[in-house]
Amino acid sequence: MAPQVHAPTTPAASGDVMERFSRFAKIDVSDDFIRQAVEDADLPALMATLAMITGDTSLIAADLKPPSPPMLTTIAPHGGMSQQAQEKARRLGVGALLKYRDGGQAYQGKPPPALLDACVQYLIRGDLEEHRSLLEHELGIAQDLGAPGWTLPEVAPGARFRVAVIGAGVSGIAAAYRLQQSQVDFTVYEKSEEVGGVWWENRYPGCRLDTPNFAYSLSFAQKPDWPQQFSRQPEIHAYLKTVAESAGMRRHIRFGSEVDAMRFDEQRATWTLTVRDRCGAVTHEEFNAVITAVGILNRPSIPDIPGLDSFRGRTVHSATWPKDLELAGKRVALVGTGASAFQIGPSIADGVAQLTVFQRNPPWMLPTPTYHDDIKPGMQWLLNHVPYYGRWYRFWQFWIAVEGRLPLTEVEDDWDHPISVGRKNEELRQGCLEWLGRQYQDRPDLLEKMTPNYPPAAKRMLRDNGVWAAMLKKPHVALNTTGIERVTPTGIQTQDGVLHDFDVIIFATGFKASDFLAPMKITGRNGRDLHRDCWAGDCRAYLGITVPGFPNLFMTGGPNTAVVINGSAIFSSECQVEYAMRALRHVLACGRAALDCKEKPFTAYNAWVDAGNLKRAWGAARTTSWYKNSSGRASQTWPYGLLDYWNLTAKFQADDYEYLG
Ligand code: NAP
Repeated sequence: MAPQVHAPTTPAASGDVMERFSRFAKIDVSDDFIRQAVEDADLPALMATLAMITGDTSLIAADLKPPSPPMLTTIAPHGGMSQQAQEKARRLGVGALLKYRDGGQAYQGKPPPALLDACVQYLIRGDLEEHRSLLEHELGIAQDLGAPGWTLPEVAPGARFRVAVIGAGVSGIAAAYRLQQSQVDFTVYEKSEEVGGVWWENRYPGCRLDTPNFAYSLSFAQKPDWPQQFSRQPEIHAYLKTVAESAGMRRHIRFGSEVDAMRFDEQRATWTLTVRDRCGAVTHEEFNAVITAVGILNRPSIPDIPGLDSFRGRTVHSATWPKDLELAGKRVALVGTGASAFQIGPSIADGVAQLTVFQRNPPWMLPTPTYHDDIKPGMQWLLNHVPYYGRWYRFWQFWIAVEGRLPLTEVEDDWDHPISVGRKNEELRQGCLEWLGRQYQDRPDLLEKMTPNYPPAAKRMLRDNGVWAAMLKKPHVALNTTGIERVTPTGIQTQDGVLHDFDVIIFATGFKASDFLAPMKITGRNGRDLHRDCWAGDCRAYLGITVPGFPNLFMTGGPNTAVVINGSAIFSSECQVEYAMRALRHVLACGRAALDCKEKPFTAYNAWVDAGNLKRAWGAARTTSWYKNSSGRASQTWPYGLLDYWNLTAKFQADDYEYLG
């Protein structure tokens, strides 16, 4: 039986977050207004929505079906629908909306299953059955399919079971929500004073998403009124705060509390956490299970450059941007050209006296001309007024990402090229080169420096709408690729011996990502230390979630779960949280205390993942990136499709575990 750790508290039923995000204002506008709104709409998602709420399947007839993926560098507008199909869709769409407006708008949100299937089938290619559970979960019409579907009092009446969640970022919020739904007693420890994780910490100028927002959001809290496709940090943070508040979970969160260590007690089959609060006071708390949601991109990495300490100006890291940093009129160095630098540079360039960007390797860029655009007013209006249009829009974006650009990253053994790894990867490279050529056609010097000599998708690809090139072409901006030799009291000396004077050095040099769960000290069964005795610098987990010898410890954002080019990190996190909930249910239903992953599935799984990564651009290329650990193994990346990860985590395989207690 599970040990009696703690008197159970009875969490109040979770606030209905689904409901909070599913309120639609009444449609009460003119015909012309509706016509204009449909002009601005994304059509495939609109046609599916209208068919669902009106029941009229002529809106999703075969001649209106979007060809959809595959995609190369850009996604075709309206999924590649022909002009003729678009015109017909708009005409039918306007008619359907007028009818809906005039017909009482009594949509109840419970479509017949056959109608829902027809709408899904209209948007996707291939076999609906193969994708059904994944797609229904992501669509989430009428039902929150990620809900655990069990409660502690039902599964293990009288059992006292307490779970710790470490971190209140996106994954921690997802975990807390699911635990709350199951009426499991839990506490969230958050080292910051607010929820949001990286979206709270990263406040550098220009910080915004580079994954489309409707897909990069929690399945159970779909917000219809995102202002942009790629929203800015304040909007994303406000969203996460609203979710936490709507769900009533803040009272479970201990802010300003960092977990320094946790130790598994074999006799009691419990974890004892060592928690340090904002005043430095240390407490020890006992839990039956732990879900880590600490993220991977939150421990800044500043390169060990000789002389760094001697610099008399100011040094900052992108992730710890000081509120009082004044850049106006300053000579600024920006070190790094990854995702963070790419957003910082163009945002600060106009205000500084001089900006020098220090680049080691240029990034590959995905042409995204609309990257900073607001969602068009008509589309905004539709998202807020047409029931579930936002959900269908999310679903459509999700579907595009299910395969996404993954096939373009495939290593082909018979492909012999100095840079690309396969035919499709070469196609992607050519598409990106063409975009680069257009950006720098007047500056061959910059074109040369900005052209990568490694395969696209070997590192994270960046969203580009031209602002980076425009920045580099400004007279007071320079791109230096000479290499940094040392930092001096007044600036940076490059490898050609030239001294560059600066007032501020900004390090946009990334994070210590490969050391998962560091700096926590985690001691499992038989006193084994997770980092020292188990991982030794090469972190692995079964499904990225569990590690043999560390019972009832579930990770989110664990080893080999990051998607490079298909999908959003939130999808993976939700898969992991839902898997952890299934595992907990099993333990509780069996009346056992804990489960521990067996070595065999752990080893086989990791061999399979490693083999998959070697067949992808990021695993095969001889580039360094945060996807790889110091031994060169791709320890971050998930090499297969989203459907594969979904299928693996959707069912809890009890035989993969041994049971304690
Ligand atoms: P990053 O992608 O790891 O980029 C670090 C940059 O610093 C690279 O250009 C790297 O060059 C350079 N660098 C490292 N050490 C250096 C040195 N000693 N001298 C010169 N340059 C050096 O870090 P990041 O830009 O912070 O992004 C990390 C991840 O966070 C992203 O991949 C993404 O997943 C996430 N992120 C997301 C968003 C978003 O959603 N909008 C925004 C920011 C970050 P090399 O390429 O040569 O190593």
